[in-house]
Amino acid sequence: MATIIDVSDRQGASRYVGRFAPSPSGPLHFGSLVAALASYLDARNRGGQWLLRIEDLDPPRESPEAPAHIMSQLRAHGLRWDGDVLFQSTRLHAYGESLEVLRETHAVFPCTCTRKSLSGRYPGTCRTRSYSDTDPPFSERLRTTHDVVSFSDLVFGLQNCDVEKQSGDFIVKRKDGLVAYQLAVTVDDAFQGITHVIRGSDLLDSTARQILLSQRLYLPTMTYGHVPLVVDQQGNKLSKQTQAPPIDTKAPIPTLQRALAALGQNTQADASSVSQLVERATDAWRRPTIPMTPFTC
Ligand code: GLU
Ligand code: ZN
Repeated sequence: MATIIDVSDRQGASRYVGRFAPSPSGPLHFGSLVAALASYLDARNRGGQWLLRIEDLDPPRESPEAPAHIMSQLRAHGLRWDGDVLFQSTRLHAYGESLEVLRETHAVFPCTCTRKSLSGRYPGTCRTRSYSDTDPPFSERLRTTHDVVSFSDLVFGLQNCDVEKQSGDFIVKRKDGLVAYQLAVTVDDAFQGITHVIRGSDLLDSTARQILLSQRLYLPTMTYGHVPLVVDQQGNKLSKQTQAPPIDTKAPIPTLQRALAALGQNTQADASSVSQLVERATDAWRRPTIPMTPFTC
């Protein structure tokens, strides 16, 4: 029988640590600012900390100027983080140790399938492979089960996910040697003591994989909330691929007001400075009015 793994919002938890974790593929566009603002306001409204982590694990997709650019964009919009910025490129040893735990507990297996031979859900082809009989290069996948992962999303409500059915055994280490996003994000959210993950709804379907991984690594799970994506007139998510323009740091007030509108919040039309606007928006922040529908810009 499938066991239900319930990770509901821990009501009344006194400690709150939130974060924004951009990949430095380029400067922030409006969609990423909306996610940053949501995680900032949710944290500050509850008197929490807000941390910044740069997810720089995929150098070919990154721009060396992006981290500094992102930080100056956040500052210009009044979003000040606590403590030092964590760069994932400094955390490779921690991902290596976590992979060791997964190998020792047989939670992962080596996979030699080529991308070409696979489409969609992984059918479990290499599940019975052992490390001793497999020559590199290989990727490593987490062995999934039909156990249902349940969590209560702060915006999207109760989610019940059968990871085995949804994605199948998923990659934690890529064949090219790079650590997969799912593993790095899980290890670092725990390392930084994050209690609340507020981010774009494109990552809603990654959440069950991250919860499963945190359980395989004996790490605490957190509360999740996913906020609406920003899409262009054609309905495409704003991204570097769709040539979304970087946000302009010279007109932060109207940008913040549009971002508040995307999040279903009072737009603070009377605010006369960035700091005043952010302060008022923090006090006025309301989770129940965050829409589930994408915001067209
Ligand atoms: N680095 C990821 C991205 O920029 C986000 C990670 C997360 O918020 O979990 O898409
Ligand atoms: Zn395989």
